[in-house]
Amino acid sequence: MEIDPVTTETPPDDAPVIVWFRRDLRLADNPALTHAMATGRPVVPVYIHDEGGTVRPAGAASRWWLDGSLRALAADLARRGAPMILRRGDSEAELRRLIEETGASAVFLNRLFEPGAWTRDADIAHGLTTEGVDCRGFNGSLLARPGTVLTGSGGPYKVFTPFLKALLAGTEPPPLTVAPAAIAGIQGVASDSLDDWALKPTRPDWAAGFVGTPGEAGAMAALETFVDGALRTYSRDRDIPGVSGTSRLSPHLHFGELSPWRAVAAARAAAADGRVPGAEAEKLAAQLGWRDFSSHLLHQFPAMADRAFRPDYDAMPWRDDPAGLAAWQTGRTGFPIVDAGMRQLWATGWMHNRVRMIVGSFLVKDLLIDWRHGERWFWNTLVDADPGNNIQNWQWISGSGADAAPYFRVFNPVTQGEKFDADGRYVRTWVPELRGLPDRWLHAPWSAPPEILRQAGIRLGHDYPRPVVDHGEARLRALEALRTVSQARGHHED
Ligand code: FAD
Repeated sequence: MEIDPVTTETPPDDAPVIVWFRRDLRLADNPALTHAMATGRPVVPVYIHDEGGTVRPAGAASRWWLDGSLRALAADLARRGAPMILRRGDSEAELRRLIEETGASAVFLNRLFEPGAWTRDADIAHGLTTEGVDCRGFNGSLLARPGTVLTGSGGPYKVFTPFLKALLAGTEPPPLTVAPAAIAGIQGVASDSLDDWALKPTRPDWAAGFVGTPGEAGAMAALETFVDGALRTYSRDRDIPGVSGTSRLSPHLHFGELSPWRAVAAARAAAADGRVPGAEAEKLAAQLGWRDFSSHLLHQFPAMADRAFRPDYDAMPWRDDPAGLAAWQTGRTGFPIVDAGMRQLWATGWMHNRVRMIVGSFLVKDLLIDWRHGERWFWNTLVDADPGNNIQNWQWISGSGADAAPYFRVFNPVTQGEKFDADGRYVRTWVPELRGLPDRWLHAPWSAPPEILRQAGIRLGHDYPRPVVDHGEARLRALEALRTVSQARGHHED
């Protein structure tokens, strides 16, 4: 299957074009849809819920977001005249059935670049193409498609800064397109009901406190709110979890409700009319660059999905510690900034980036638990859980990734808390049992004098856990473990 074809010539028939929606749940800036509309033929939009095969099924929190996003897209399509078809089962079988039912002669899609989906889609397209179906794939999800940002010698970048420079200098932003006002669709094609897919929890409804409005309109509103508000002071505030200093665009971007180029364009337009400093717009572009970097790496090094990017790190003597893992997952480690983050994640389906780094470091260094446990927990609990971003960031925090934080730099959860949550607003929101503790002891309650704890109404080990590790000792244990990796490296080099 070609990607980003240069021509959009009209095929010689007037049979419908299937637009296979996946993580591109929007009508504006959607290359597959734009190209399908350009043929002038009827469009059959389809979403296939396929949980088998090589593609990792969405986690529980993501499914909640997906439900809202599909409802929004279905309503937007129906309003324009093209009812969305929902199908459940094997992607290829469902596509073939739909081709049969509608007489479609083409399938257009925006490509997914993670290894499982990439090869599955290529196989499907290959089979259909040999039978005369016109299959076309586009890049609608990344700033640049993997394989187009390469070093001077033609290899993939493994260091972020030169990657970003090459990406921004060498990629022509695509033209922005508005959602079509009307789409010629086909009526009467059988479709599942979204309710039958049970993507959302009911009893218990653990998603009741989730934040964000799934769907393209929600994405556009979030972008506008950010550009008119927090973007002005993004570099300063993006590291402070107690303020709304970031865009909250991550689930919208993951599900493709918003094109990353539109986000960059909106920020640059605000900079061009003096509403925000230019450096802030470029800071957002750089963060979106990290998103591209993550997906490009996973695409080019598929083994990193479950193996250390630097192979010597697979020698790390990870501990088997179910109690420690459970304390981390449930926000009961006794380290307030860690517990606040894990509770924010559980309650809202999202966690602030600074705190993701702190809790990640705590798991792999203080508890010496394999990063894959953390990656799996995040996959299930984040509404923005994303193959590239989640894997790359977990490997970054573990020291095993490309351009990763060195393993020997161990975050101290107390000083991180004191630095980034100095007024305690974040911890007090998510760990309410510590609300009454003065700032001075908030990030290390075990160091507070008994009288202070009593006045704050806290009995350690009863109202709030004692720390599950001594950070100083855990740090030394982590550094000791790192020596195993160095020894493994020595063997590799022998
Ligand atoms: P903003 O600061 O407003 O950033 C704008 C956008 O840039 C984000 O929406 C995101 O798409 C991208 N971005 C920002 N930081 C990063 C980064 N470090 N890496 C890649 N892209 C970035 N992000 C996910 O989208 N999905 C994940 O599954 C995910 N897992 C993570 C796991 C760990 C251990 C860590 C440390 C980070 C993870 N991130 C993940 C990256 C980052 O934390 C989130 O993208 C960010 O917190 C989302 O909030 P925001 O949209 O307000 O970010």
